Amino acid sequence: MTIRTRFAPSPTGFLHIGGARTALFNWLFARHHGGQFILRVEDTDQLRSTEESTRAILDAMEWLGLDCDEGPFFQAERVEIHTEMVKRLIDEGKAYRCVCTPDELEEMRKRASKEGRKPRYDGTCRDKTLPQTPGSVVRFKCPQIGVTTVNDLVKGPVNFDNSELDDLVIEKSDGYPTYNFAVVVDDAEMKITHVLRGDDHLNNTPKQILLYEALGYEVPEFGHFSMILGSDKARLSKRHGATSVMAYKDMGYLPEALVNYLVRLGWSHGDQEIFSRDEMIGLFDLDAVGKSAAIFNPEKLLWLNQHYIQKSDQERLAGEIRPFLEKMQLDVEDMEYLKRVAGDLKDRSKTLLEMSESGAFYFQDEIEYNENAAVKFLKTEYAGHLKAVAEGLPSLEDYSRKGIESFLRNIADEMETKLKFIAQPLRVALTGRIVSPGIDEVMITLGKKRVIKRIKRAIDYIAKI
Ligand code: GLU
Repeated sequence: MTIRTRFAPSPTGFLHIGGARTALFNWLFARHHGGQFILRVEDTDQLRSTEESTRAILDAMEWLGLDCDEGPFFQAERVEIHTEMVKRLIDEGKAYRCVCTPDELEEMRKRASKEGRKPRYDGTCRDKTLPQTPGSVVRFKCPQIGVTTVNDLVKGPVNFDNSELDDLVIEKSDGYPTYNFAVVVDDAEMKITHVLRGDDHLNNTPKQILLYEALGYEVPEFGHFSMILGSDKARLSKRHGATSVMAYKDMGYLPEALVNYLVRLGWSHGDQEIFSRDEMIGLFDLDAVGKSAAIFNPEKLLWLNQHYIQKSDQERLAGEIRPFLEKMQLDVEDMEYLKRVAGDLKDRSKTLLEMSESGAFYFQDEIEYNENAAVKFLKTEYAGHLKAVAEGLPSLEDYSRKGIESFLRNIADEMETKLKFIAQPLRVALTGRIVSPGIDEVMITLGKKRVIKRIKRAIDYIAKI
């Protein structure tokens, strides 16, 4: 049997962390077993689905590298098949039209709660064989006795009393199928063998199993993943930090860091924290997916991001920081220069955004001096030091880290001062700040011409104070 999994997002918002984890686990399970991964956009909710959100979800899937073997399919384009199946159930006496109004349903709910019963449809239209009329819906005749067992691949067997289940609506009055119906028809028609999703859907599964049986489809395997919680054990939400996948892209995370982080949300392999994509595929299986909720830990994600930044080569990083720098209106055409900048910063940055912000000075000839830095180091007593550096540089032959260091040390000796009183004013002149990558690295990356230009500008600045 070829394993076929799917990710079936509803395009009613961005792709969030929980959805991405579900997508990843489905993708990994399929890849691990040499199966297929299918993407299906569940856009039958006419009111809440948007194209923008579909685009956002597809972009996020692409960014994470979760490629699908089939799809994306769009559920709304499959309504004819759903309608056909609804008709079949009606013809077979397994579903019926219902004309109860919202007010009547509300009345039923109130009565049930007054009598301490679980609110459910009372079966008014069940045996009436009503024709289709405007406003009518189709309900599934849910068996009223017996037990439906979900043999969950993650949670183990979970039993549901059929008497607790409702005669659920399978076709709405607008002619569109409901989620529970469309998902069954589509999963069955797409030959999905494993339905793996968040456990917020566990209560839907017995209804879906009964629908599979009524439609004569083979019931697939089910697995439900526990929710992702914030550090306070509340369900992950905005107040725990960004929940949208693409917000992490915008904050300067690498996709492999996020994927590596997501795989550990509920799955483990001993104490191992770092997994390459191939390693994940090789190791992932459902038996190591935990039953308890996973806790979202932004610090760990940041740590992983730093790890992957350090592991990336300069060329990749140059390409990654480029859009961030462009957004800051900086001219970043020179790829070779960008690569050198990335090299200076890669060991000092936790995110690409941080890297770009701290590297902006490389691209600004008119750098802004940090106020504190200028007060401390761009003052008259250091003007001579800066002048000596600018004057000595053109004839410095060994423009390497070592050569620059001894060049600066010689100036300090000649001027009978400490190296730091040469290096710090120079750092502020070149970067605008007190903290930066090593001054020798900065000088090499900037190149002599830029260095001299910036020193002269700093000397002019000092002359004006
Ligand atoms: N469209 C549903 C959702 O986004 C899919 C649930 C499922 O995987 O069955 O929640």
